[in-house]
Amino acid sequence: MEKKIHDIMIIGGGGAGLTAALYSSRANLSTILFEKLVPGGQIASTDLVENYPGFVEGVLGPEIAQKMEDQAVRYGTQVICEEVKKLRLKGDNFEAVTDASVYAARAVILAMGASYRTLGVANEKEFTGKGVSYCATCDGAFFKGKKVIVVGGGDSALQEGLFLTRFAETVTVVHRRDALRASPILQERARNNPKMSFIWDTVVDKIEGNGKVEAVLLKNVKTKEVRLEDTEGVFIFVGHDPNSQLAKDFVTLDEKGYVVTNAAFAASLRGVFVAGEVRQGAVRQLVAACGEGCGAALAAQAYLDDHR
Ligand code: NAP
Repeated sequence: MEKKIHDIMIIGGGGAGLTAALYSSRANLSTILFEKLVPGGQIASTDLVENYPGFVEGVLGPEIAQKMEDQAVRYGTQVICEEVKKLRLKGDNFEAVTDASVYAARAVILAMGASYRTLGVANEKEFTGKGVSYCATCDGAFFKGKKVIVVGGGDSALQEGLFLTRFAETVTVVHRRDALRASPILQERARNNPKMSFIWDTVVDKIEGNGKVEAVLLKNVKTKEVRLEDTEGVFIFVGHDPNSQLAKDFVTLDEKGYVVTNAAFAASLRGVFVAGEVRQGAVRQLVAACGEGCGAALAAQAYLDDHR
């Protein structure tokens, strides 16, 4: 049987990919979207999204993610819950290879997003799931009445730290500098929360415990002083790296691995468009990812019109 060649394949089901799918399928283009686990990418593990326009009281991350997917599916997007292991060129088309099958399309939108960074300190890997976590929404409830630390000084660290105060007795933010990167509104909330405190100019050198986290070895980067801090949870929010591995062999990446595009979301190879956090210069906000998904889908439509 001859393989179906779709118009557009979208790799990644976060805000960028789902919005691209909505626009592509609503333009009556045959659209497939690959997602690994659940819809939403990073928003799926976000408790409350407070800055997506139109939701005055905020909206739960998994809820808006599911709605975005339902909306794309309503207009004909086919969601394929398989991991794309390889992306390759086949003549003028693209092929996505999964463990189950090979899919083809005339244009591709890369929307693989970014993944959380790890600290790379001793025992971090061993204690992941045993006190070390990268998702407060997923694991916060296990820390009722306990002392936890949060590592990082950006929006994620403070937003997730504030979420953890619902459960934990204390939330101590350990930050490597003496100034936060997070937005002023989150800084103000964190500073005013009686359960939250800060340890400045400090990094985690090692995670200690017997089968589970019991303490962290902290090092002051200015004084070099080292001390042990008791804690049962270590929540790590130190930024993200782009998930661009699939694309690295055929489009240009910058030195940090983000995919380089022109102002119209086109990558260095014809027929390849990029949206969201995997793209160089992307604004890391859900609303921006959605806007980029729209832009990439419109650019892909124009490309397909020109190459009929
Ligand atoms: P981020 O803004 O890159 O912040 C990462 C934080 O981790 C920084 O404070 C950084 O320190 C620290 N860090 C990095 N590597 C470290 C290491 N090896 N050891 C210790 N600390 C380390 O990442 P993010 O907080 O995940 O945010 C990502 C993007 O999503 C941002 O654009 C953010 O605005 C957005 N976001 C927005 C919201 C919201 O609007 N409510 C919520 C979450 C995320 P330095 O400050 O010293 O570099």
